[in-house]
Amino acid sequence: MKDRSVSRRNLLGTMTMGSLAAVAGVALPWSRSAVAENAPHWSYEGPEGAANWGHLSPEFSVCGSGHRQSPIDLASAGLDVAPDLGLGWQPFDAMVENNGHTLQVAAAAKTDSALMLGGQKYAFLQFHFHHPSEHALGGGRWPLEVHMVHKGEAGDLAVTGILFRPGRENDVLGRILAVAPIGKGKVAIPRAIDMNRFLPSSRATYRYAGSLTTPPCSEIVSWVVFRDPVEAAIGQIETFARMFPMNARPLQQDFQRGIALDLF
Ligand SMILES: [Zn+2]
Repeated sequence: MKDRSVSRRNLLGTMTMGSLAAVAGVALPWSRSAVAENAPHWSYEGPEGAANWGHLSPEFSVCGSGHRQSPIDLASAGLDVAPDLGLGWQPFDAMVENNGHTLQVAAAAKTDSALMLGGQKYAFLQFHFHHPSEHALGGGRWPLEVHMVHKGEAGDLAVTGILFRPGRENDVLGRILAVAPIGKGKVAIPRAIDMNRFLPSSRATYRYAGSLTTPPCSEIVSWVVFRDPVEAAIGQIETFARMFPMNARPLQQDFQRGIALDLF
């Protein structure tokens, strides 16, 4: 009988080709209608990898030239008061899509879920995962990060990031992984998803001005990254890693951007 344990090296070796093949029809994360049939392919490694995103297409140029790119290391954050944060997340019936870059979860029908930031309302669009985490602290990365993407009326985005450390099973993550398509595709998740169940008990957050962490890397994101990680089982992290062995953008220079640690 074959050993069922799979080393990270093997995962990288066997999955990269599949991931590359699956990269087609780049989706701007907040707008299905913006998907161009001939949108440039991108990946995390190889010739279309993160180091080259800025050269893949004129519309991706800020990926290489921007001074407000994400993710960054948050270790230099200073205690500060940041714009008020209010989470108006409602449970919703959801679909999970494997889009070749990540697992992305969106409401199956309209949801009123939203986030208030500094008095502005941002409507919830979707959440998705990165392995390992994109944001780092003192160079260290967590094994998983979830991003909830919200869009404001002016077209800018507010994205919350929650980091995962190995520990107990995460029930919401488990329900997503249980039905997630191995290849590209989209399925309904049984029973409503409640994003509040991802939240750590502390409302301490890092705040900074940054970008999308995937092409076109638009510098339109108010980042809210929760300081304290939550837990996911190692088996859950491995299940995601088998599908996406590496879908985290390398750390970007912070160019002296202020990073606030708001203790709420
Ligand atoms: Zn993301």
